[in-house]
Amino acid sequence: MSDDIIKKIMQNNKEFVEEAVKNDPYYFKKLSEGQKPSILYIGCSDSRMPITSFTKTMPGDIFIHRNIGNQVFTNDINILSVLEYAVEVLNIKYIVIAGHYQCGAVQSAIKGVNNPLTSNWISTIRELYLENKEEIEKMNSFDNKADYLSELNVIYQIKRLLKTSIMKNRLKKKPYPLIIGWIIDIYTGYIKELPLPIDIWKKLELLPFDY
Ligand SMILES: [Zn+2]
Repeated sequence: MSDDIIKKIMQNNKEFVEEAVKNDPYYFKKLSEGQKPSILYIGCSDSRMPITSFTKTMPGDIFIHRNIGNQVFTNDINILSVLEYAVEVLNIKYIVIAGHYQCGAVQSAIKGVNNPLTSNWISTIRELYLENKEEIEKMNSFDNKADYLSELNVIYQIKRLLKTSIMKNRLKKKPYPLIIGWIIDIYTGYIKELPLPIDIWKKLELLPFDY
């Protein structure tokens, strides 16, 4: 059965190429010459979260890193190299960290999970849950609890991003990349921008005073 989806995808690819070349015969030639995206996007691996579909963006628009639970670890060479390349070479203007409602990683952080590697990977989201348990547990349904934790997780991951030496160095020179927190509301499809505690982060010297 899995052959069918692969065949379908290959057919889709053919149609995508034909359509693009029909609109602009040099489309792929231009793409092949290099990228100049203005956004670094850090999001969840969830298959329902292809940010290019949600934002109608095109190849070349967004530099993307995705992992389970849209997390930033200061010892994760994968995300750190993506970040370094984005801010030092591509000189991107915006860094977006996006979570989403109905996130399996966040739900598992509340419920617990058996797979040892996944359990380890989401352990900091679980810590975040435990730290905010009193507030979260006031909510009336599991979905509300998990969705609120998804929002807290985005803010938490941005804070961790700001603690990386790459960001500390980058924020010494202007223009600063703009930091943005999003939640993709999977119930409606709309993206919500989360308010960020910019003033607190300035006081903690995670952001420059004139950011
Ligand atoms: Zn997720």
